[in-house]
Amino acid sequence: MPDDMVEAHLKGVRNAIAAGWRALSRGGSAVDAVEEAVVVMEDDDTFDAGRGSFLNRDGKVQLDALIMEGSTLRAGGVGGVERIANPVRAARKILSESPHVYFVGEGAERFAAEHGMALCKNEDLVVTREVERLREYQAHKEEHRADLFAPTDSHDTVGAVALDRDGNIAAATSTGGTLNKAPGRLGDSSLIGCGCYADNQTAAASLTGWGEPIMKLVLAKWATDRVATGNLPEWAAAEAIDYLKTRVNGHGGIILLDAKGRFGIAHNTPRMAWAFKTMTNEASGVER
Ligand code: ASP
Repeated sequence: MPDDMVEAHLKGVRNAIAAGWRALSRGGSAVDAVEEAVVVMEDDDTFDAGRGSFLNRDGKVQLDALIMEGSTLRAGGVGGVERIANPVRAARKILSESPHVYFVGEGAERFAAEHGMALCKNEDLVVTREVERLREYQAHKEEHRADLFAPTDSHDTVGAVALDRDGNIAAATSTGGTLNKAPGRLGDSSLIGCGCYADNQTAAASLTGWGEPIMKLVLAKWATDRVATGNLPEWAAAEAIDYLKTRVNGHGGIILLDAKGRFGIAHNTPRMAWAFKTMTNEASGVER
């Protein structure tokens, strides 16, 4: 995250926390809270989710999102959608209204439209900053390393975890994926257990980072399982990021929360914007 983007990221995560908290204060569920928090970040051009996302090799926005409910293990996911401004809302509709768990591409868009969501044009999701970023990347491709997370390029997948008054937890993750990705490439973010997972009996997790290494480790499930075996979320989060680095040389970050309200935030990138709020405490930052 470049220095000149720090304030925008902090503002974005604080707005997201406020939206999630509002949902909980109204008596909403943890699923409502993570949905509302993620929508705020999808709508914020700062992040690589919704409008303002990285562009794929063809200059298009292709979005992935997952939302999961820890009490029932119900989940909803969309992959590779091009005409949905808030993919987490479509994912929520799948969770709540479909016997299926995951929809991709046109089928996901059709599902969303049939369930009352307005579809947008792909151009509506494209911002000038990203057109220029893609142009610059493609012009100097050979100078860029394969792992964009090792250098200081910004990656801004968004995610949220929440615990509600009934003791239920939930997680959601939403992304535009990686810069210059091949059309149709799906990352970890929307895959169950990779970039997102929630189970009341273990924990709720959301991850960011280079998707391919995270996927190979099924890292969200790995981290939540460690909570089930007695690790504090704070330790499990740090261990997950260590494991990502030592096992597959990956870079990224994780937020992890259990049903007792204990949480962990960890990353091995230079920065990762985060925010939390509890009944007694709140904070935000770009380093942990
Ligand atoms: N994990 C995302 C992906 O690989 C990228 C990110 O977190 O920024 O699609």
